[in-house]
Amino acid sequence: MTARIVLLPGDGIGPEVTKEAELLIADLAAEYGLAIEMQTELIGGAAIDSTGEPLPAQTLQACRGADAVVLGAVGGPKWSDPDAKVRPEQGLLELRKALGLFANLRPVRLHPKLVDASPLKPEVLDGVDMMVVRELTGGSYFGDKVEGDDFASDSCSYSREEIERVVIRAGEIARQRGGKLTQIDKANVMATSRLWRKVTGEVMQEKFPDVECENMLVDAASMFIVSNPSRFDVIVTENMFGDILTDEASTLVGSMGMLPSASLGAGKFGLYEPIHGSAPDIAGQGIANPFGMLASIAMMFDYSLGMQDVAQRIESAIRDCVSNGECTHDLGGSLGTAEAGSAVRRRLRETGSSEVAQG
Ligand code: NAD
Repeated sequence: MTARIVLLPGDGIGPEVTKEAELLIADLAAEYGLAIEMQTELIGGAAIDSTGEPLPAQTLQACRGADAVVLGAVGGPKWSDPDAKVRPEQGLLELRKALGLFANLRPVRLHPKLVDASPLKPEVLDGVDMMVVRELTGGSYFGDKVEGDDFASDSCSYSREEIERVVIRAGEIARQRGGKLTQIDKANVMATSRLWRKVTGEVMQEKFPDVECENMLVDAASMFIVSNPSRFDVIVTENMFGDILTDEASTLVGSMGMLPSASLGAGKFGLYEPIHGSAPDIAGQGIANPFGMLASIAMMFDYSLGMQDVAQRIESAIRDCVSNGECTHDLGGSLGTAEAGSAVRRRLRETGSSEVAQG
């Protein structure tokens, strides 16, 4: 069977880190004898420049026919005029919605070598290893909007079904990790939050009675993420709270360039992207950290291609590179994007051949 992967490099450093993803996938396909077809399409500002649309029909069609999509980043100053009719970010929002990607998974794990790169004290960071599951296609980001000079409103709504499906994903992950689920809301003031709390309780009791589950208000959670982050294992929350909390949690690991994400729907299909943006301040210099992107490819092998062993090998190759200082400037190293990507591939080749030798 052939796995079809669509690459969407996007803008700024997006193409630079996506190139490393492409090379990594090609290496692993060759090593494992996998039939993987990769195809590159436009999104974001690059798509606006070339077609006038942030998500051209050809891109959406290609993604619909794929097993996985790999996205670099979209946006940048060139397209940031607030009065512009089309914006790069619309392409990404439309894509997530059109593909039914309702669960955004962001693992946050700290490499011991990067403790000093974090603004938090080492003792606070001890044992940080969490997975944040953010609902991605509902809530106030997608509700009806009214926008005038003297009045504006964003409507926030959730149905039982929208909550159930993402809580089930989070429950599965918590069970797999042998851990605990924390559901975060603002149930003391918001009706949608009270529905989240009720439905989460019912889902967990019915489908995951073996998984410990707690509820927490978002204000308390935002405090605990920086004061006692290791108390969290798996977090599940609605769209806007998840957006804010995941960025807060990303500061724990020292660099925006380190963190991967997966956006999943009901089946195996997923969209994989590093959490960082297009980083216009360093774009074109060849110094962007590709590890968040390469860790996203590990998630792709895990969730979409069902190859957990490959995922683990990629993660440990990245860890080894960081441990040995084979990394980019943001992590205190001296490698460029291409050199850091090739260091990961070299380590993979080494582990691949040693496994063969041992076997
Ligand atoms: P950003 O993530 O692009 O950059 C924030 C800071 O982190 C910058 O100093 C940047 O140099 C650094 N950084 C980010 N990724 C890095 C990497 N891989 N290696 C080394 N350093 C890295 O966030 P921003 O500056 O707020 O946004 C820039 C543009 O990206 C905006 O147009 C924004 O809308 C867009 N954006 C896109 C996405 C996405 O495509 N999913 C996400 C966030 C922001």
